[in-house]
Amino acid sequence: MVSAEARAWAAAAAVPDPEVPCVTVADLGILREVRLEEGVAVARVSPTYSGCPATAMIEMGIEAALRAAGFDVRIERALSPPWTTDWITPEGREKLRAYGIAPPEGAAGKRALFDDPVVSCPRCASTATRKISEFGSTACKAQYACTACGEPFDYFKCI
Ligand SMILES: [Zn+2]
Repeated sequence: MVSAEARAWAAAAAVPDPEVPCVTVADLGILREVRLEEGVAVARVSPTYSGCPATAMIEMGIEAALRAAGFDVRIERALSPPWTTDWITPEGREKLRAYGIAPPEGAAGKRALFDDPVVSCPRCASTATRKISEFGSTACKAQYACTACGEPFDYFKCI
């Protein structure tokens, strides 16, 4: 027997990210917690990039998923501690790579403050890549190209 709380978590956790539909809000670490308070499912959500228009869509998606699962819903924004790309789960990183998006390189990539991180190509894993544009398909990503296999790809910016 699955508890109502586990059911609520499963419903909310399966919501895809509106910008990168291959990963879920749980993969990205955006969904922090789902708890039941007097029958109301309370979902704690950490916004990603500040001002990212996806945040409102993510919250609506989680609310709709919980309502479809039969819950009354309250969304809580968890602003502290702030979300960082380090919260993306290992599974989420694998899914990003499989989708052709280089996952953020984490603390190692951040060490040189003014240098671009070393980004590996999601297709051939070569690090012979160069940045084409600061902005990829969305403001949260930068556009890179691989000089080894010629593949252009998005890099999920590290914050
Ligand atoms: Zn490549």
